[in-house]
Amino acid sequence: MLTLIKNSQVYSPEPLGARDILICDGRIAAIAENISLSLQGASHTVVDGSNFYAVPGFVDPLAHITGGGGEGGFHTRTPAMNLTDASLFGVTTLVAGLGTDATTRSLPDLLAKAHALEHEGLNIFCYTGSYEVPVRTVTGSVRDDILLIDQFIGVGEVAVADHRGSHPSAHELARIASEARVGGMLSGKRGIVFLHVGEGAEQLDLVRQVCGQYPVPLTQFYPTHMNRSVALLQHGYDLAKQGMVLDVTASTTPELLAQGELSAAHALAQALADGIDKTQISISSDGNASLPDFDAAGNLVGLQVGRVASVYEAFVSAVTEHSIPINAALHAVSTNAARYLGLTQKGQLREQGDADIVLMHRDSLAIDSVWSRGKRLVADGQAVVHGTFK
Ligand code: ZN
Repeated sequence: MLTLIKNSQVYSPEPLGARDILICDGRIAAIAENISLSLQGASHTVVDGSNFYAVPGFVDPLAHITGGGGEGGFHTRTPAMNLTDASLFGVTTLVAGLGTDATTRSLPDLLAKAHALEHEGLNIFCYTGSYEVPVRTVTGSVRDDILLIDQFIGVGEVAVADHRGSHPSAHELARIASEARVGGMLSGKRGIVFLHVGEGAEQLDLVRQVCGQYPVPLTQFYPTHMNRSVALLQHGYDLAKQGMVLDVTASTTPELLAQGELSAAHALAQALADGIDKTQISISSDGNASLPDFDAAGNLVGLQVGRVASVYEAFVSAVTEHSIPINAALHAVSTNAARYLGLTQKGQLREQGDADIVLMHRDSLAIDSVWSRGKRLVADGQAVVHGTFK
């Protein structure tokens, strides 16, 4: 089965101009001018791409695919994600994690949901562990989880600077990082430590301490929620200049923004304006997480649910409201997370890369079509593949 997308403006994320893209067997077989197929009997589809941008499928480095939350009691546990929550918004790859609650939420359940969404057409990777330290695992060790279980590419969200975390010591965090690193090395994965950074005044001081005291590379860590405040974002700049990718969260609420959180698009614009390279910021959805609002005394005063769609909305806002070039915005929603997480087949449109492709209207940036590993999930803005129970 071959698919040929004709004459779209291709961003790899870099602009390549008007090109045809040939999809074969889940991969991009060719990107070139004027590809023509003269096939006898072989089935193939030709899509007119001339009104569209063709861009890499979005790579979301944190989504809570089985749900999360519960900070307001059992009735505030958030629901699980569905296929079309991601596919209709161009997100083709997600990295799934647990969050605050690793008691009623479990890693086996996370892995089962990852298999389900993968079966339905997405690309799902997972973090072992959760907020807490000692880290909960499937096999009893972070290293063994990453080494032996395909979906696990790292550990996270390990919580630092947060009242819901375990307040690990530098030695404990260094040990987790080395376990993840060795598990990753032995299995050809990145073995990243994905950090939930809370509102605590210590910010990323613990990471600086770990890398100062122990032979753990800074790039073993991947902090998220860095757009909690301008101060936190800027606190990360020297780390970004040393190679760390800073992740900002797209799901937000008016209350959180009023308290000083930056929208993901705003944070991206701010970081670029402050001289951070476009390769060093990524945007995650925190999809299906709870977005709890705590008052100054630590009381829960509100709770909403994160959405995977927020990554796409952040992309549109970055381009249309903050005048960020399309290629820089694509780095943030796709390329950077894929590179930093070692997902070499993702985050770019290139020959022999996975055919995770989004077509967007050039005038409105509305999504027309989405392919994931060469399978068309969305056409004419509508889902053509639905989740099992839709
Ligand atoms: Zn978090």
